[in-house]
Order: sequence, then structure tokens, then C-alpha cells
Amino acid sequence: MTKIFDIAVFEGDGIGPEIMAPTVELLARMAAGSGYDLGWTHLPAGAAHYAKTGESLPAASMDGARAADAILLSAMGLPSIRYEDGTEIAPQIELRKALTLFAGVRPVTIRPGQPTPLATDKPVDFVLIRESTEGLFYTQGCGEVEADEARETLRITREISEPLFRFAFDMAHARKASGQGSGKVTCVDKANVFRAFAFFREMFDAEAAKHPEIEADHAYVDATALWMVERPWSFDVMVTENMFGDILSDLGAGLMGGLGLAPSADIGTDHAVFQPCHGSAPDIAGQGVANPMAMILSGAMMLEWLAGRHDVQAMAADAKRLRDAVDAVVSEGRVLTRDLGGTADTAQVVAAIQGALA
Ligand code: ATP
Ligand code: MG
Repeated sequence: MTKIFDIAVFEGDGIGPEIMAPTVELLARMAAGSGYDLGWTHLPAGAAHYAKTGESLPAASMDGARAADAILLSAMGLPSIRYEDGTEIAPQIELRKALTLFAGVRPVTIRPGQPTPLATDKPVDFVLIRESTEGLFYTQGCGEVEADEARETLRITREISEPLFRFAFDMAHARKASGQGSGKVTCVDKANVFRAFAFFREMFDAEAAKHPEIEADHAYVDATALWMVERPWSFDVMVTENMFGDILSDLGAGLMGGLGLAPSADIGTDHAVFQPCHGSAPDIAGQGVANPMAMILSGAMMLEWLAGRHDVQAMAADAKRLRDAVDAVVSEGRVLTRDLGGTADTAQVVAAIQGALA
């Protein structure tokens, strides 16, 4: 009997349900055509759910996510609904912590025809891996604040860094094998100033020594910001600390001409969440005009991750087909949502992608 991959689905808030429904439909249709099985478990969570029930991430949803083979999430949180203490409702951050999703994966891809502030038509395709559980976010919300001084801690551990670097080199191998990347990993740090980053780099070098066929490179974070603008095509896989990754991934989204085409994944040893980089976009929710591409590309990342873990060739092929279909629609430039300068609605873009798949 073939295995059914159980996908936990959080359709969330705002435009979340509008972009999730067609994505699930596309993925289900591809699976049926390619002979692997996807099962879908819809789980409640988010700001609207909190307003209704007083719970933003019910225990049963957390359990459902933990039990699934992969987690697909659209967007959660609304500016109008907050916890009583005024903090934002972000169950995706709770999931990241509870499931130890240490690798934040942010592909930076500029397709032909994609709006970008770069004055070049050279294609750009690299992946930024942001450590997502420690670094400068370790003391998040618990920094020490006195009358005239405040302190936060930069924490780098072997426990997280070693699997992080293993993950980065594995990704470089996979990208090289598929022809998508040149086979290079760049460790982005500030090892010249901070001992914690020298330690980070030491562990990177130890992992690099195990992969002689992958080029290992170092760069300081300030220079990296410059090079991401001057020559972004020279990167393949980039791996960095949490705060640096937070900042560089927004720079990456800027290069990509906005959020509508930016997918992401948060990956740990046994679990992974796939979601677009953008938020719930309450300003356009309910109008059927949201760009579904970042969500669909996140679905493609999920297929690729599952394919690698379970060695299902057809899934890897479908991930590529889906990416190529989005590329084709973007390059053609005829059916685009408003954020990409077009006039199409969500359904028209989905139909165009479906057409490019056929
Ligand atoms: P969060 O804090 O949850 O990340 P945010 O404040 O960064 O949210 P977003 O929800 O990402 O905000 O929206 C930022 C802007 O981008 C809004 O104007 C929104 O309409 C637009 N936007 C975001 N996602 C999409 C999308 N998929 N299609 C079209 N426009 C979008
Ligand atoms: Mg945001």
C-alpha cells in the first residue's frame, strides 16, 4: 500500500483561506495525477479563532501539527485582534518553538519578468537559511532592563549549529545535483568582532571539511548586505544567525520585488512548516484579489522537502513543475495580481498556473 502523506493545514486569518484553498486544490490534483497520496487535516488556529474561543492555538491543533508529515500554513494574526496584554497573535512562532524548527529557509529568486529594483536581468536564485531558535532572539521578551542599561544575550549552541550547517550543506548538494545551484555555502557572521560568531564559524568549517565537493565560503554580514545588492547571483546557499537572517531576508524580499512571490519554510529535524513570507493582508482580505503565488511556491517547497525525506521522485518532479508554472505566468506577465502590477484576481492567477501546468 502506498503511504499517505498527512498534511496539516492552517488556513489562518485574513487572506489566508483565499490563498490556501486553491493551493490545496492544485496540490491534490497534482498528487492524483502523479500517483502519490496526500491527506489533508484542517486545523483551527489564529486571531479570528482566538476572538471566537479564547484560544489561538488549541492543544488539539498543536497535536495535529506534531502528528502530520508536513505543515502548510497561510498567514495568522490580525492587527485588530490581540492578546489581552497587547502582544500579537502569532501561533506560527509557537509552532517554531514547540517543534524546534531551527532552519528558516527563504529562497531568493528573481525570474525573468519579475519586478525587481536591481538594474539587471541576470537571473538570481539563492537560498538564505536563517537560524530560527537562538542567536540574538534567544532572550526575546526577557532581556534585562535596568534604569540606565539594558542587556540581551547572543546565544550560539553546538546543539543547534551542527544540524543547521549539516542542513545547509545537504541543501547545497541537492541544489547542485538538480542543476539549480553551483554547490556553494556561505557562512554569514561577524567573526571578526564577536567570539560567539568565531565559534559559529568554527562549527561551520568542521562541517565544510566533510563536503570537499561543496565550496565553503565566509562573509561578514555587512559585506553580505552590500553584495546581495551588487552581485546577488554569486550566492547559492547562505547560512546565518537569527537576527542577521531576519534582516537579510527582508532585503531578499525587497530584491524579489515584494512579498507576493516570496515563499518560506521553517524546518527542524522531524517537522517542517511551509508558509508565504507575507502576512494576512487584512487590507485586501475578502476581495478575492490576493496573490496566491507565494503560497503556491510554499506548497512546492513542501513537496520538495517531502520528496527528499521519503525518496519520492514524482513529488520532486511536481515541485519543479509547479515552480516552472509560476515562472511561466510571471514571465508572460499577462495574468498578474495588483501587487505585481496586473489587474487579475486570485482565481484568474490560479487558472493561469493550472494552464501552465497542463
Ligand atoms: P505580518 O506582521 O503578519 O507579517 P505585515 O504587517 O507585514 O503582516 P502583510 O500582511 O504582509 O503585512 O501585508 C503587507 C502589505 O502587502 C499589505 O498592503 C498587503 O495587502 C500586501 N500583501 C501581502 N500579501 C499579499 C498577497 N499575497 N497578495 C497581495 N498583496 C499582499
Ligand atoms: Mg511582516
